[in-house]
Amino acid sequence: MRFGVIVCPQCKQVKSVDLSSKTTKCIRCGKTLQIKKLKIFYETESQEKLRNAIGLLNAELDKK
Ligand SMILES: [Zn+2]
Repeated sequence: MRFGVIVCPQCKQVKSVDLSSKTTKCIRCGKTLQIKKLKIFYETESQEKLRNAIGLLNAELDKK
């Protein structure tokens, strides 16, 4: 399985997605997001790397 890290365009929630899905639902605002329309910040097959990438992206967004 291949995972991606996205940011919800509506509420800026950082979220992991399964890249084989077409849509994902934001856990914070409940908006249904079309994965192909989103910017994929990071892609990996490793759940461990995925968690690290989410942590890094959250830290980066907090600075702004
Ligand atoms: Zn959202």
